[in-house]
Amino acid sequence: MERTDFQDVATGNAGALHDVTAAERGDEPAIKMGERTLTHAELRDRSAAFAGGLAERGIEPDDRLLLYVPNCPEFLIAFFGGLKAGTPVSPANPQYRSRELEHQLTDSNAQVIVTHEQLRDVVEETLEATGADPLVVTVGDARPDDVPFEAVDGDPICVDRADDDISTQLYTSGTTGKPKGVLSTHKNLRTQAFAGLTTGVDEPDDERVLVSLPLYHTTGVYHCTWQPLIKGGCVYLRDPSEWDPADAMAAIEEHEISAFNGVTAMFVDMINDDSFGEYDLSSLESVGEGGAKMSVTVQEEFESVAGVDMYEGYGLTETSGATHAGHDSTFGPRLGTIGQPFRMTDCKIVDESGDEVEPGEEGELLIRGPHVMKGYHNLPEETDAAFDENGYFRTGDIARCDEDNYYEIIDRAKDVIVTAGYNVYPSEVEDLLREHDAIADVAVVGVPDERRNEVPKAFVVPAPNATVGEDITADDVRDFSLDNLAAYKHPRKIEFIDELPRTASGKVRKIELE
Ligand code: AMP
Repeated sequence: MERTDFQDVATGNAGALHDVTAAERGDEPAIKMGERTLTHAELRDRSAAFAGGLAERGIEPDDRLLLYVPNCPEFLIAFFGGLKAGTPVSPANPQYRSRELEHQLTDSNAQVIVTHEQLRDVVEETLEATGADPLVVTVGDARPDDVPFEAVDGDPICVDRADDDISTQLYTSGTTGKPKGVLSTHKNLRTQAFAGLTTGVDEPDDERVLVSLPLYHTTGVYHCTWQPLIKGGCVYLRDPSEWDPADAMAAIEEHEISAFNGVTAMFVDMINDDSFGEYDLSSLESVGEGGAKMSVTVQEEFESVAGVDMYEGYGLTETSGATHAGHDSTFGPRLGTIGQPFRMTDCKIVDESGDEVEPGEEGELLIRGPHVMKGYHNLPEETDAAFDENGYFRTGDIARCDEDNYYEIIDRAKDVIVTAGYNVYPSEVEDLLREHDAIADVAVVGVPDERRNEVPKAFVVPAPNATVGEDITADDVRDFSLDNLAAYKHPRKIEFIDELPRTASGKVRKIELE
């Protein structure tokens, strides 16, 4: 497809981009999952009808659509539909328990929730706890007051949107604190549809992408589905909770998958699987890893068997996805780096006083560009603090850049644990565990793990009258977390200690905990 075909939609609603694709490739498959196939024309028509149905039910542009469903075709129909309705889409992690969903529901003040029969109980609990009364649209078995997903359809629409209007509101904790709503604009998403192109070489427009990453997250939704669908590709959806390395490799062979993105844990699983080497992975043209620093040994082993170069990508929710990707760099991927920034992306590395450092020196990575968010929802102070005086976004990541403009991520300045690609904010787990009657204090840190990069470890100070082994055990701590937070957040390691090491100002010295 010619890039010029998209000129008519160089402004306006990002949801309209896909209509250009559907006009040209209408009969070709866009989404496949199990036995189901949706063509590009079906995705276009169903999302426009979904948008019309929302409008007919009183949902307005600038309301919010909370999208709480696992990976499935309906996720993408509702995602494109929300954009076309002008109603910013706020995807939530389907692993969320009620406590976590409550925050996103109240903070976004969503007037419509699109959910799935498997998750309907959690939604019920959340609605009871918050007293909120949104329109509930359910995929699968709907309750009497819900609108079944299939019944939403109205007259197709795609409303006008300005560059600066909000398209999506994903949640992230950014550098600190509670999850914040990241306001990405229609322009941010349009830009991200054609991200990359540092080298000026177009990515193929008929990609077959295996999507085992969750769609609620930046990489899953923007990089793995939004971009390839706009370019006319087909996405093969998998449920991440059913991740199976042999199944993924069999799918790559069977569907001649050309692009696959994963986190370290997935590649570790594949190279350690007995069937590794038995499947033909030669259809792969693009294999990316991101979310955390890539393991060089894992990369080399995967590359030697798959026969394709892997690249490391980097980006954040606040940059509406990737800003760097190794394969899109002038000299190709370089081991241990995230490559050069995309052509549209301005980067600088600064020291603690905000002054730019010399090539080769470390500092905080700051990013500016048309894909960088407008700000955090309802948080003017946090938004101000997130940008420097020249409009560069502070990533909270410590990086280094060489003479060829290749970047390397060294460390994180922010307090976040990345475990198997999922971000865990220690403060959230600590806040929860402190609610336990037998816990006086707690600190959660990330400790190294071969498969998951890092895992959360909790250092627990028992309450004064609590006896370890009787009033509180490691299993109690684990279960309390599993009952209240998404499973990937639970401390996989637990140590009881008498006192947390603290600085003179009272801050926990996490550096001493391992
Ligand atoms: P999220 O907003 O969930 O996409 O998380 C973004 C954060 O993930 C970044 O600020 C980094 O801390 C981390 N991250 C993403 N990609 C990489 C990478 N290639 N190497 C190291 N850290 C990464």
